[in-house]
Amino acid sequence: MKVHKHEVIVVGAGGAGLMAALYASKGGADVAVVSKLYPTRSHTGTAQGGIGAALGNLDDDSPLYHAYDTVKGGDWLADQNAAMVLAEGAIEAVIELEHMGLPFDRTPEGKISQRRFGGHTSEFGKQLVRRACHAADRTGHMILQTLYQQCIKKDVNFFDEFQVVDLLMNQGQAVGVVAIQLGTGDFHIFHGKAVIFASGGWGRCWNVTSNAHSMTGDGAAISLRRGIPMQDMEFFQFHPTGIYKMGILITEGVRGEGGVLINGKGERFMEKYAPSVKDLASRDVVSRAIYDEIKKGNGVKGKDYVYLDVRPETVNRFFAEEGKKDRIDAAYVEKKLPDILDFCRTYLGVDPVHEPMPIQPTAHYAMGGIPTNVRAEVVIDENWTVVPGLYAAGETACVSCHGANRLGTNSLVDLVVFGRISGIRAAEYVRGVDWTPLPADAGKEIEAEFKRIRTSKGKTKPYELRARMQQVMMDNVGVYRTAETLQKAADEIATLRERFLTDISIDDQGYKFNTDLMEAWELGCLLDLAEVTALSALNRTESRGAHSRDDYPKRDDENWLVHTLIYREGHARDPKYTLNTKKKVDRSLEATDPRFAPKVRVY
Ligand SMILES: Cc1cc2nc3c(=O)[nH]c(=O)nc-3n(C[C@H](O)[C@H](O)[C@H](O)COP(=O)(O)OP(=O)(O)OC[C@H]3O[C@@H](n4cnc5c(N)ncnc54)[C@H](O)[C@@H]3O)c2cc1C
Repeated sequence: MKVHKHEVIVVGAGGAGLMAALYASKGGADVAVVSKLYPTRSHTGTAQGGIGAALGNLDDDSPLYHAYDTVKGGDWLADQNAAMVLAEGAIEAVIELEHMGLPFDRTPEGKISQRRFGGHTSEFGKQLVRRACHAADRTGHMILQTLYQQCIKKDVNFFDEFQVVDLLMNQGQAVGVVAIQLGTGDFHIFHGKAVIFASGGWGRCWNVTSNAHSMTGDGAAISLRRGIPMQDMEFFQFHPTGIYKMGILITEGVRGEGGVLINGKGERFMEKYAPSVKDLASRDVVSRAIYDEIKKGNGVKGKDYVYLDVRPETVNRFFAEEGKKDRIDAAYVEKKLPDILDFCRTYLGVDPVHEPMPIQPTAHYAMGGIPTNVRAEVVIDENWTVVPGLYAAGETACVSCHGANRLGTNSLVDLVVFGRISGIRAAEYVRGVDWTPLPADAGKEIEAEFKRIRTSKGKTKPYELRARMQQVMMDNVGVYRTAETLQKAADEIATLRERFLTDISIDDQGYKFNTDLMEAWELGCLLDLAEVTALSALNRTESRGAHSRDDYPKRDDENWLVHTLIYREGHARDPKYTLNTKKKVDRSLEATDPRFAPKVRVY
């Protein structure tokens, strides 16, 4: 196998990976970014609504309010120190992005324009505040392009279309990764002093999802297989507004601009569920409300969807009823939400300026993942024991600033704030340590696994297993769960995993761009993550944030202000899972400010 040597190896070229690479290289390190996608195709590029920062350009705002909303939105499971780092870092990060040339929308005075988003308030929940900085509804696209240009300027080494398939550890330290060059099928070893995982989420475990096909959680699954626990996997966010059946995301920015949810009876039902913030309640609340309406038979035409209505006449009617002075017209909607209009016109034949959009909740965002501290160092237990040389940032990481439910616009902040920290820290770390050699058998195990997948002569095609897994997860590990559904999911996923290991076959035996082979391997990652998600959810006997158990409907702060860590040991065919719930939530803000103490959620 060809061996490449770079001090810092960044896995992934989304917002988190590019920010990490930029800062590691600014810190003087020799950096390689290894990415299965061409960088600007990363999922960050699809982020629509905005990036939250308490700039206070339009309303009075402060990082403390932002941190409070983040902690409260996370249903008090967020580590409060991490939420504060996020909120304080957000302002600097947005200004830095602006200085790098990101074309934010502007106010008439030339300041960065900000809009309302779910759960963004000032004065500790008193009123909604405009905090989401945006470039129309293409904010992530602009972030990705801007950061990629900066990395090119800094001569960062890019290995595009190299898919990382294993993590190399030696003497308890991360020493590199193994990757397959997609264009040739060759294995390569990347030997480093530090590895940063920035490989994104795993929405593809579910069948209705906003996530791109590439969101298969490779980095998280690889880490799990190498002994790194996964944290808080039971918390996976369903975004309330995905295009019916397709799952394509309709940004919360639509509701931020005044759009409302309407049931089959023509009622604005969020008035019942969250009387003060209504359609801009946090995502878990809105997703549950939609499910409840559908359960009551209030779906549109008796089906399992409701409407999202941003027609100017509807929006203006509600603005007037609420005594708001704002008024919008068709031109405004066209200017603020161009991509959303385009998606609906193209994929649905629906024009949102004249018709309401049919929507349903869609699997969207992993709050859980590879556990880290606020320095983006990977930690493996309740004592915050650090794995030397291993870092994680972005959606694949769980720092945990989002707790049990992430607020809209906080992921983009997370990428730039913790991506940057991971780069700075990794550069410092590599300066102070010598090279640790590669393990003697580097790459052998994963090479054998690929040979198995390529040559297996089983009866099942991987896509059949994937479709089944996605349905099982949708039906049993969705917005609402019970012990029964979760056990059923865990059992069935284990059976699917067994079949994946013993009974598959693929059609393409070639080496160049063998997507058949790579998708089969990715299915293995999804199955591992689906299994730990179901098991972690089964273990948490309460309802909190995105984890809603019909059989334990109450939040239980007495016993459950702790993070879930799940470990995996043993052979892939017969893995042993261990759960640990001793890692306490950081409550450092609450220690000095009682407003940060957990409260019953009232909207
Ligand atoms: C449709 C949509 C809209 C969204 N809108 C918003 C929004 O408005 N505001 C907000 O805050 N958040 C939003 N989010 C969430 C946010 O965009 C994501 O959480 C975030 O972009 C993830 O960034 P990341 O850098 O962690 O990973 P990604 O951008 O997903 O990038 C992952 C990278 O890892 C690489 N990779 C993965 N596996 C491998 C492997 N095995 N080997 C090598 N490379 C690998 C990929 O090539 C890619 O470069 C949205 C998400 C979606 C899906």
